[in-house]
Amino acid sequence: MGGLAGATAARTLRTEGYAGAVTLLAAEARTPYIRPPLSKEFLLGKADEASVEVVPADWYHENDVELLLGTPATRLDPGGHTVALADGRRLPYSKLLIATGARPRRIPLPGADLDGVMTFRTFEDSLQLRAGLAGGGRKVVMVGSGWIGMELAAAACTYGNEVTLLGLEDIPLSAAIGPELGTFFRQLHEDQGVSFRLPASAASIEGRSGRATAVLTDSGETLPADVVIIAVGVAPDTALAETAGLALRNGILVDAGLNTSAPDVLAAGDAANAFHPFTGGHQRSEHWANALNGGKVAAKTMMGQDAVLDAVPYFYTDQFTVGMEYSGYPSLAAGMEPVIRGSMEDGSFIAFWLSQERVVAGMSVNQRRVQKPIKALISQRVAVDVRRLTDPDVSLEELLPG
Ligand SMILES: Cc1cc2nc3c(=O)[nH]c(=O)nc-3n(C[C@H](O)[C@H](O)[C@H](O)COP(=O)(O)OP(=O)(O)OC[C@H]3O[C@@H](n4cnc5c(N)ncnc54)[C@H](O)[C@@H]3O)c2cc1C
Repeated sequence: MGGLAGATAARTLRTEGYAGAVTLLAAEARTPYIRPPLSKEFLLGKADEASVEVVPADWYHENDVELLLGTPATRLDPGGHTVALADGRRLPYSKLLIATGARPRRIPLPGADLDGVMTFRTFEDSLQLRAGLAGGGRKVVMVGSGWIGMELAAAACTYGNEVTLLGLEDIPLSAAIGPELGTFFRQLHEDQGVSFRLPASAASIEGRSGRATAVLTDSGETLPADVVIIAVGVAPDTALAETAGLALRNGILVDAGLNTSAPDVLAAGDAANAFHPFTGGHQRSEHWANALNGGKVAAKTMMGQDAVLDAVPYFYTDQFTVGMEYSGYPSLAAGMEPVIRGSMEDGSFIAFWLSQERVVAGMSVNQRRVQKPIKALISQRVAVDVRRLTDPDVSLEELLPG
């Protein structure tokens, strides 16, 4: 069941030659889609609806995959190998994949139910926000300065709206990529006219006639607002796994083959906290590539293949003129000072995080075709000379063995 991970698993079952029955349950009434464009090119009106589908809508019928839209699974019985659906049916299964994704976190804020206040996760959210932003001239307050908050702020600003961002950190994104790189993104936004209030949180949302008019901050400032977006992270959707008594810890606990604690039940994508052979620990990842790779691995495991989710984690973001890609293990890079190759001033560089002379993460900004060698440096645990690593005249490929 699910979206990107679920649909990718269905596709992989067919491309790997599985000829048995495949059913994909989707809580949403829309053909499974990819979410990254929703806060980027789709929100900006530069991509159409068809371009965000995981596979074209007619693929399911053509490949004999039963797609049940608007049909959430409500209860899982691992002992009986059945799953109950919201429409009252109960389906038997021989293998089941839970790929229920994540839900936006909500904060108990007075006024959060006013019109004009929203969280952001779905295609419909993107359509709604696009309508609210297009044309510009609105006052937009973003509560949350993580990746989604920053992307939405960039899009809102690009449409010509006045944007203010509140965040709990002193520097946006610093928990993820450290203060130096967080400052780079802050500066990028400020140069385009985005205002920050950091650290600050929303205390309440004020309104008139049922519509939001302002956000009151915890320092007592009143920020006028036509649109308020709460972007304070997501929580893994483990509701179904809970009904089945599966082992949970920051998501659904799975091994490297994506097996849960129940026989024949797997989990992938944002909902799963998977064991990574590279780090020797569990890691839940809320990124597109993890759902894509996880869907493939889950399908292969279901078919009895010896599959392991061991791809180097990867994600990307686009904000204003910056295209950023990151490969690596944030848990291994946490708290470490990155070394820089290239020029942050010119906005074209790679930041590397090293542990014991080995690259554990690499973030490229406005650089093309560097992620492949970065992933190879990480996965092959290549010992590197920092001077050569940070010298743009030495190609990254030269640092790889053989
Ligand atoms: C706006 C936005 C921008 C993003 N940008 C980036 C980016 O730039 N780069 C990046 O790497 N990642 C990005 N991500 C993250 C990425 O989209 C997610 O990691 C990815 O979608 C996770 O895929 P998934 O299949 O696990 O979950 P989802 O895509 O969330 O799909 C899960 C689906 O399961 C359905 N579901 C839930 N419960 C049930 C049930 N009981 N029965 C049936 N169906 C159910 C849900 O309705 C949902 O449709 C972004 C996410 C968002 C929201």
